[in-house]
Amino acid sequence: MYIALYARQSIDKENSVSIETQLDYCKATIKPDENQYPVRCFSDKGYSGKDTNRPEFQRLMKDVRRGRVAKVIVYKLDRISRSIIDFVDMLQEFNDYNVKFVSSQESFDTDSPYGEMICKILVVFAEFERKSIISRIKDAYEKRSDLGLYAGGRRPYGYDLEEAVINGIKSKKLIPNQEEAAHIRYLFEVYAQPSVTLRQLQDNLLERNIEPLTGTDWTTGKLSTLLRNPVYVKADAELYSYYERKGVHIIGETKDFDGTHNIQLYGKTTHDKSLDDWSDMKIVLLTSEGLVDSEVWLKCQRKLEQNKQIGNALSNQTSWLSGKIVCSKCGHTMTTVKGQSQKYFLCTGKTHKKVCSGIKETIYVEDMEDLVDECISQKLSELNFSRVSHSDAKANQINLLKLKIREIDGKLSSLSDAVLEGNFNGDMISLLNEKAKRLNEEKRKLLDEIDDRTISDISVQETINFSKKWRKASFNERRAICGILIKTIIMHEDGNPEIIWNI
Ligand SMILES: [Zn+2]
Repeated sequence: MYIALYARQSIDKENSVSIETQLDYCKATIKPDENQYPVRCFSDKGYSGKDTNRPEFQRLMKDVRRGRVAKVIVYKLDRISRSIIDFVDMLQEFNDYNVKFVSSQESFDTDSPYGEMICKILVVFAEFERKSIISRIKDAYEKRSDLGLYAGGRRPYGYDLEEAVINGIKSKKLIPNQEEAAHIRYLFEVYAQPSVTLRQLQDNLLERNIEPLTGTDWTTGKLSTLLRNPVYVKADAELYSYYERKGVHIIGETKDFDGTHNIQLYGKTTHDKSLDDWSDMKIVLLTSEGLVDSEVWLKCQRKLEQNKQIGNALSNQTSWLSGKIVCSKCGHTMTTVKGQSQKYFLCTGKTHKKVCSGIKETIYVEDMEDLVDECISQKLSELNFSRVSHSDAKANQINLLKLKIREIDGKLSSLSDAVLEGNFNGDMISLLNEKAKRLNEEKRKLLDEIDDRTISDISVQETINFSKKWRKASFNERRAICGILIKTIIMHEDGNPEIIWNI
């Protein structure tokens, strides 16, 4: 086992700190009780911190993985990497192999509570950075939509896609497909009649040999999705107020809702339809024409909404995580599907929108709930910690102890002043020394007490109670707490979730 000093210097910077100086600083950081360890230096000269592809750094990491390194010291954190993700990954490995890590200039030490806290914060930042890669893709989609460009991939039934330049941007325009457009009008007209159910509509279409765009047969699910799509409506003032009431963000002006053009509905893919929350959704007018009068379209919406209410009341929600889990590949929500014996999560980008190949691993609902359950317990105990540790009563007690120490310090310094003045014989001095010793002991006890109190701030009892409460929480309580604590859970290809916390 040895202590590794790591230095890096980019080639292009003139007045950057030299490798030698960096190593000197590192050496000065070695503690006296670490002198038993041999020291080895690693230095990458002429390499930037944009990634970790540096020969000496890689050599160091190899030794770390072989368990040969006790501690790594750097001059500054940015010597390791300028990428927070790289940095956090490295810290993770150091943690796995029990390697301590110190930065001499930032007095960053993974061994101290402060260092631990910084690590946690860095991990959160790294998650944020990973997440923003996904949101950039979503942003691009949203931007295209904001411009009134058709952003969906596949053509909707009833339209053909034609290349077009809209507002100077190459895009695709929806052109009604005459035969299918007639079917669409028929479909809405039939369903707008109060007595017709989705099932009857389905039978009706099968009888008439009207084939859907995808798959072999119409299903009630397919029909419901189609009937909900505002791409078919001739958007007018009625429609404007329909979406306004729902709290949907409307792009464009009221006067443009002239009853000819259709609409695109889009927005955050975490939109939870079961909660009927539309606040993150937007609509924009497209340049193409609608097929169905708003009166008929709205009649259908009212019927569908009634269905949904009944449906919600009947079917118990299948997971308290519903609506929180998002596919890392396409950003669409993952919903629960009933398998033969167990429920599992599937990407709606695959099942509904057909834009994603889905996650390879099977994500069982039960497993995922257990995992997130653990994470929430952990989070709650952390929250508890920060809440209790700031309690005023404790702070007052600690302050009192500090005042006592100050008093002792005063006595000690007047003692040493008296000795320095030199009016004492040997016996007197040994007496004073005795007194100084006692005072120092008293001081040490007080310092210990401060330590104890700071540690006992992590009120163990309360933490357990909080976690216990969570463990006993009902389905709806879990759903609510999960809603408050967790923003999104990104499901990765390997089946590992990444939790994005709200706090
Ligand atoms: Zn997906």
